[in-house]
Amino acid sequence: MKKKVLITGAAGFLGSHLCDKFIDEGFKVIAMDNLITGDLKNIEHLFKLENFEFYHHDVTKFVHVPGDVDYILHFASPASPIDYLKIPIQTLKVGSLGTHNLLGLAKEKNARILIASTSEVYGDPLVHPQSEDYFGNVNTIGPRGVYDEAKRFQESITMAYHRFHNLDTRIARIFNTYGPRMRLNDGRVIPAFIGQALRGEDLTVFGDGMQTRSFCYVDDQVDGLYKLLLSDYTYPVNIGNPEEITILDFAKEIIKLTGTKQKIVFKPLPQDDPMQREPDITKAREVLGWEPKVEREEGMKKTFEYFKGLTKEDLFKSEHKDFSKHNRR
Ligand code: UDP
Repeated sequence: MKKKVLITGAAGFLGSHLCDKFIDEGFKVIAMDNLITGDLKNIEHLFKLENFEFYHHDVTKFVHVPGDVDYILHFASPASPIDYLKIPIQTLKVGSLGTHNLLGLAKEKNARILIASTSEVYGDPLVHPQSEDYFGNVNTIGPRGVYDEAKRFQESITMAYHRFHNLDTRIARIFNTYGPRMRLNDGRVIPAFIGQALRGEDLTVFGDGMQTRSFCYVDDQVDGLYKLLLSDYTYPVNIGNPEEITILDFAKEIIKLTGTKQKIVFKPLPQDDPMQREPDITKAREVLGWEPKVEREEGMKKTFEYFKGLTKEDLFKSEHKDFSKHNRR
């Protein structure tokens, strides 16, 4: 009998790559998404497979899946600062109510559950690099608070289910990850810069560009998540690439990669934008025997190829997603 895995947020960037991974590893995949930020295009190629099933469902409502479930991966959530501003209530609900529903399902099915937490639980960190024992520096009432606090609550309720109900749980703290299928207009720095280069616009660096990020290629991320799920470690593990770069230097790399003739322009830094971010991955190395393998140059080439393949219509559409009907709830 094939092992069955439920993946929420399956039509999103990370969710869709996880679907591919679990199909490749011989699992039966139940994919779930409410398609607020996800896109069926990302998983279209899987619909013809016998081991793949899709449920169009919002996990903040009661979740039902018939039969056995061996593993649950909870990856449903808006995941970009622009999304948190546009759909703040949904962001809070999917991290809190959605997680509660999935923990309940995991308990009912006696399944192991991995939840997608984030480097945002560290907020604008005062220690560098960030290791799992750092408690973070989050502005609860700032624009990013809806995501950061939902994810912090998610970790708390997951540990409570682990301690109180003996549930088999895993917590991944995911750092900035990139690759094919990122949403072009979600405002994140990589699709933003590549989109600007492809449209012949100037690259918008926020602030003075001295803030840092560390970018992990999606194949490495998925490999780390897979290893964490199959490990026996229940405490949070950072999964990311420790190679740190300033956003200004990164913009210069994009100019080189894309060959654009455009220049860099500076825009105001969004509120609570973390000044530095780099994962300490000692734990992942020790517990999972995992570390990233893909250099930024190689990963960015593949990512650029993906964005070059988009249609002109996609490239010039200002936003794919109409959130208006979701904001009534
Ligand atoms: N950023 C930027 N220009 C853009 C989009 C983002 O300079 O057009 C900056 C942003 O202010 C942040 C960094 O790039 O410092 C990464 O932003 P992103 O939204 O990708 O991720 P996060 O802030 O959640 O790490």
